[in-house]
Amino acid sequence: MPVRAVDPRSELVVDTHELARRAGQSQQVRRIVSAPDGIGVAMIGVPPGSPIALDLLMESVVEGVLVTGTAQVKLAGSCARCLEQIESEDSVVIQELYCYPDRELDDPDASRLEGDLVDLEPLLRDVVVIDLPFNPKCRPDCAGLCPRCGANLNSDPGHTHDADVDPRWAALGGLDVKSSTPADDIAD
Ligand SMILES: [Zn+2]
Ligand SMILES: [Zn+2]
Repeated sequence: MPVRAVDPRSELVVDTHELARRAGQSQQVRRIVSAPDGIGVAMIGVPPGSPIALDLLMESVVEGVLVTGTAQVKLAGSCARCLEQIESEDSVVIQELYCYPDRELDDPDASRLEGDLVDLEPLLRDVVVIDLPFNPKCRPDCAGLCPRCGANLNSDPGHTHDADVDPRWAALGGLDVKSSTPADDIAD
């Protein structure tokens, strides 16, 4: 992961100087922040600027600052079956140790404090995206779209087509029998 410059004015950056490296000290962080851009995948994600409710406990431990709690996010996207807009919410669990900058680490990918600052944004991105549904649905039994005309079958459950033919015959109807085939060439 590229090194990000931590912006101390970011709402997702928490100053832990009050913990003063005294193990056992803790600090509650309850705040509503606005979502940064680009948390999500193609079908669903967190709308930029939407409110994220953080409810976190920052605890000073020997290695650094342990952050535990939850983040409530809004989600917006499209149903993978019928493409209708979806709006929902998600609550993700946060548990991450931010190690002191001067501490030797076994794990080179471990999160670190930047001075006294904890930057929650990379963690938040990871935990929200991992929790997103791979195939979001407007409802568990979404009927999807008609494969022939694209009508939404949720709003039109008895949907049929007048000239409904067996789809196997419909496929044959698309063949042009007059065109020459390799077999014809051999016969000539
Ligand atoms: Zn749907
Ligand atoms: Zn149809």
